[in-house]
Amino acid sequence: MLVEQLIRETLELQGFRIESVEKKDSELLVTIEPDLRYHPRCGICGLAGDYRDTLPERHFRHVPIWGIDVNLAYSPCRVSCTRCGGIHVEQMPWAAGKKRFTKALAVTIATWARQLTWQQVARMFSCSWGTVASAVAYAVAFGLARRDLSGVTHIGIDEISRQKGHVYLTNVYDLKTGTLLWSTEGRSTDSLDSFFDFFGPERTEQLKGICCDMWPAFIKAVKAKAPQATLVLDKFHIVKKLTEAVDTVRRQEITEKGKEHQKLVAGSRYIWLKNPWNLTDRQKASLGSLEKLNLTIHRAYLLKELFRDFWQSATKDVATKLLGQWCSWADESMIKPMQEVAKLLRRHEENILTYFEMPISNGIVEGLNNKAKVISHRAYGFRTSKNYIINLYHCMGDLTMPTTLHRFV
Ligand SMILES: [Zn+2]
Repeated sequence: MLVEQLIRETLELQGFRIESVEKKDSELLVTIEPDLRYHPRCGICGLAGDYRDTLPERHFRHVPIWGIDVNLAYSPCRVSCTRCGGIHVEQMPWAAGKKRFTKALAVTIATWARQLTWQQVARMFSCSWGTVASAVAYAVAFGLARRDLSGVTHIGIDEISRQKGHVYLTNVYDLKTGTLLWSTEGRSTDSLDSFFDFFGPERTEQLKGICCDMWPAFIKAVKAKAPQATLVLDKFHIVKKLTEAVDTVRRQEITEKGKEHQKLVAGSRYIWLKNPWNLTDRQKASLGSLEKLNLTIHRAYLLKELFRDFWQSATKDVATKLLGQWCSWADESMIKPMQEVAKLLRRHEENILTYFEMPISNGIVEGLNNKAKVISHRAYGFRTSKNYIINLYHCMGDLTMPTTLHRFV
């Protein structure tokens, strides 16, 4: 029968044979029997063992054909294994670990889950959300166990928030490849410590550069666990701090000066926050007229723009000088939010200036974090971080998938 032949060719069945393929109600039921020419193999270590007894029949979901469900039926036996020294359920080469679906179905579902939401995939295969979760978890576990992390030398650390800031995750990326290395709940020193524990002392010692934001918990963990690596505080976070300070100045000035002032600066928010070369002609004209009014927000804006020179410094010495100069300008401006930024920069000066020895940034990470947010947005059903983290690894970890005899997608 042709269907039987197709199933045999697409399924790993060495040591087994297809007894029959029947159409039962709306599904195809494939009954599998052991091939008695072979010894059953131990499900733990794979060694050929001695038959002990047979367990009741189990069903395994396989990839549907033309929308028709396909199920495998097999009664596994137990073997006594001389290597593991116990009695174990035999190895079934088609099964995805202990799951009641085939490896081929797990890989097919997991492949779609990289593109679609889990509920879309569940609908597509008329299975439950939980089955999709198990299939992805299976693929991720396989990939994580086979990662080669020996070449990782530069890492970026960043946090993302979920559920409107109620839950934080700490993510660690390989800055060279842009792949996700580690993700865990929380953003404490302990959260990052758990990465270093996983990464191990040998690989940690090989780290040359680490980039993170000015979050004290991360800085503390990095300094304790990887003191040999150059710590570079992320450029993009520093720029963000400046932009936020400018926005605070704008809001404060409106509160202080009242309605008239609010009318004057109405609609100007993005003029102060955007890069000047991104302004529209109308915004440029409006900036031109606002410039003449000697507003605090304008002076804060000029300070923010002056800071651009810092990143252009040719050497660390020049950068050191410019940073000092900028901080005194900020102090003299008497604009509180800008003075606070100066204070922050002074406090972290040492690890900001390392940028000029090792110009790494989390730029690549910002892009990845946006991707993570997209995954979070489309992640209806990720009530716990566990499944969300699995999906992050799945979509951003560049993990290898289990191989199957046939490619179903
Ligand atoms: Zn064994």
